[in-house]
Amino acid sequence: MRVTSAKLIALYWESFMAKGTGYTGIQTTAIHAGDKPDPTTKASAPPLHMSSTFISDSVAGFSAHDLTPDSPYTYARWANPNVAALEAKIAALQGTEACLGTASGMAAAAAIFFTFLSSGDHLIISDVSYAGVAELARETLPRMGIEVTAVNMSDLGAVAAALRPNTKLIHSESPANPILRLTDLKAVSDIAKSAGALHSTDATFASPIGMDTQALGIDLVMHSATKYIGGHGDAVGGAVAGRAELISQMRAEASIHHGGILSPFNAWLISRGLTTLPLRMKAHAAGAQAVAEWLETHPRVTKVIYPGLPSHPQYDLAQQQMQTASAMISFQVGGAARGRAVAQMMIDHLEVIHYAVSLGHHRSLVFWMETEGLMETSFQLQGAQADSYRSFAGDGIFRLSVGLEDAEDLITDLDRVL
Ligand SMILES: *Cc1c(COP(=O)(O)O)cnc(C)c1O
Repeated sequence: MRVTSAKLIALYWESFMAKGTGYTGIQTTAIHAGDKPDPTTKASAPPLHMSSTFISDSVAGFSAHDLTPDSPYTYARWANPNVAALEAKIAALQGTEACLGTASGMAAAAAIFFTFLSSGDHLIISDVSYAGVAELARETLPRMGIEVTAVNMSDLGAVAAALRPNTKLIHSESPANPILRLTDLKAVSDIAKSAGALHSTDATFASPIGMDTQALGIDLVMHSATKYIGGHGDAVGGAVAGRAELISQMRAEASIHHGGILSPFNAWLISRGLTTLPLRMKAHAAGAQAVAEWLETHPRVTKVIYPGLPSHPQYDLAQQQMQTASAMISFQVGGAARGRAVAQMMIDHLEVIHYAVSLGHHRSLVFWMETEGLMETSFQLQGAQADSYRSFAGDGIFRLSVGLEDAEDLITDLDRVL
C-alpha cells in the first residue's frame, strides 16, 4: 500500500487541532497527540524522517505563498513529519489551534519579533527576561527601526503607561529568568487587547502545562524546547503556540524565509521527551518544593525565591496563575564575593548537581548569576527598575534547576558546598 504524503499530512492536521484529539487526560494527550502509528510499517513508535525533500504527486509551485494546511510534504524547511508531530503535541498540551517548531528558543523569539514587528512599530518588553531575548530586543530591533520600551511587567501601571499608538506587541516572560518575578498575564493580555496589540509570553519556566495560557488571553506562547519540553538536555529547539492564522504567518516568515527550522532528529528527541512532561513536572515540582524548603532553613542562605513558597513576593499570583510552581529556584548566600566563592565550591565539590547553564532537564543544574554583570550586559536597568531587580536578586543569585533526582541527594550535595 502506498500512502501518499497528502494522506500523511491529513493525519497530521487531524491531530493538530487540540480539541480534536478526543483525549480527556493530559498524560494521554502528552503520549498520543501528534503521534499516529506509521500507516505503512505499523511501527508503534514514531519513525524518524530524515529527508530534506519529498516526492511530489503533482505539478505545484515552490513559494511560501503556495503552502496551505493540506499541502503535501514538499521540502523540510516547509514541513517535516517529525516537526509536525511535535508541533501537534505542543499545540494539544498548550490548548492552542497550532504551533510552530523552531531551531531554538531564540529562533522562536526571533520568529515572533520579525513576523509581527516592522520598521516604525513599537514593542513593549519585560525589562527582565532571558538574556538573549533582552539583548535581541535592545540591540537588534532598534537597528531595524523598531521602537522598544523595557518595563517592569509586575507593574501594570508601567505597562499601560508605555503604550503608544504604534504599539504592536507586548512580550512578557513569567516566571522571568533569572529572578522568578511573575507577571499578571491576564491583566497584560487585557492591556494589549485594549491597544489592539498582540501579547506574547515566554512560558519556558512554566512549561506548556504550567499555566492555562488560553484562559490568560495570551496570543502567542513561546518556549525554549531545550528546557522542560525536551527535558533531557540532549537537543536544542523552540516552539511558538497560538491561533492557526498567526502561526501560518510565522511559518511563512520564520521557517520558509528566515530558515530557522528544527531538525527532524531534534524534533524526534524532543517529542519523545515531551511524552512524559506531565509526570516529570509533578516530580520536578515535588523535588523543588523539598529543596526550596530546606534552603529556606539553611543558616548560610540569605534568601530563597520559589513560586511554591509562601515567602515568594507574589505567592498569591503564583497560586492563581500557575498550575505547577515548576522547579526553578533562585537563592542568595550574601554578597557577590561570597557568591563567587560558593560558585567555585560548587564547581569543585558538587557530585550530583552539574554547575552549568540551561534548565528543565532531568539532571539538576545550578549557575551563579551576578547582578552587576547582568546589569551592564543584558538588562541595563536603572532607578526603580534596578531596585525591583535587586529586591529579588540582591547582588547575585544561584539559579537552580531542580531535576528528577531524589531530593535527599540534592540536599546532601548542596549542604556540601554552602
Ligand atoms: C533558554 C531560554 C531561551 C532560549 O532558548 P534556546 O533554546 O537556548 O535558544 C529563551 N527563554 C527562556 C526563558 C529560556 O530559559
